Amino acid sequence: MPEKRDYYDVLGVARTATDDELKRAYRKLAKQYHPDLNPDNKEAEAKFKEANEAYAVLSDAEKRQVYDQYGHAGVDGQGFGGFDGSGFDIDLEDLFGSFFGGFGGSQRRRRSGPQRGANLKYRMNLDFMEAAFGVERQITVNKEDHCDTCKGTGTRDGSAPDRCPTCNGSGQVNQRQQTLFGTVMTSRPCPNCGGAGTFVKDPCPTCNGRGRHQKSKQLQVKIPAGINEGEMLTVRGEGEPGSQGGPYGDLYIEVHIKQHPVFRRDGNNTYCEIPITFPQAALGCELEVPTIDGPHTFHLKEGTQPNETFTIRGKGIPYVNRNNIRGDHIFRVILEVPRHLNESQKEQLRQFDQTCSDSNYSKRGSFFSKLKDLFTS
Ligand SMILES: [Zn+2]
Ligand SMILES: [Zn+2]
Repeated sequence: MPEKRDYYDVLGVARTATDDELKRAYRKLAKQYHPDLNPDNKEAEAKFKEANEAYAVLSDAEKRQVYDQYGHAGVDGQGFGGFDGSGFDIDLEDLFGSFFGGFGGSQRRRRSGPQRGANLKYRMNLDFMEAAFGVERQITVNKEDHCDTCKGTGTRDGSAPDRCPTCNGSGQVNQRQQTLFGTVMTSRPCPNCGGAGTFVKDPCPTCNGRGRHQKSKQLQVKIPAGINEGEMLTVRGEGEPGSQGGPYGDLYIEVHIKQHPVFRRDGNNTYCEIPITFPQAALGCELEVPTIDGPHTFHLKEGTQPNETFTIRGKGIPYVNRNNIRGDHIFRVILEVPRHLNESQKEQLRQFDQTCSDSNYSKRGSFFSKLKDLFTS
């Protein structure tokens, strides 16, 4: 097998070529070497395939990046090598469309059998607790659906629509086009039926013969406990109906969770901050800690420091679809210093302070001894 040429050389463009430059270079080569325009010319065929392969790789940003980095080895080894050009759909209409300006370059709708319906996305806002413990919601989805009046046929009496006389039901019309390069056969969607292949003489008044129209549908949706911000639930088959008997698409429910005034959430753990007083911190206490299950009594130890955090295991958010496994609840204590003390309170504090020594304040003691070392050395 001869050495493969560099894809940029094949197309005759610089390695920095823009998508537009690539496309132009490719079109030029494809027009020059297209097999239909060069019957029984093996060399032209080879050039055509080479250009197809080069363009297929370079016009795909991801493949181009791999090719730039690893060369042919990169793209051949990735499963998108092995082009022979035949699998790559070169549409003459597409190729010459802009050149001759006549035959509808943008009309690329093809009649290609049953097609799956479109997927739909629905945004759902949940309260913090609804997301934590799950909820059942009734939602209303507005979507295109089969028309009930005509059972989707589009005809007034519900009978099957007629075959389109223009394209004889195929949805495509063929056209013989004289070009600079000879005669070219092209096909395009039937202008009479828009590619559907059917034709409604007496249209259903509800849907104007389309066989479908905008409807709203009520759905009961079960949101599992533990769902998190931005997560997606899939409701199979609740998207839009397919075309020509194709299956329905799916409905995706995207979940958004409202902020809670007390709790924050990170994954399956919940967080909150609790203000405590100096005596509570110094003496210890039984602290009422809010959790998503309600208040939980926590024994705060004597000598608790400001901003210390404590964990209550298994009081966080449940894991989706895992029974009884939950994250933790983590809380931080915020020491609130009292303000607006009266004279007698102040006096009591002064008296209290005089009874204290460095043994009561380990940080303060070591801080001042470090300072002393600093200035006496
Ligand atoms: Zn109808
Ligand atoms: Zn037709």
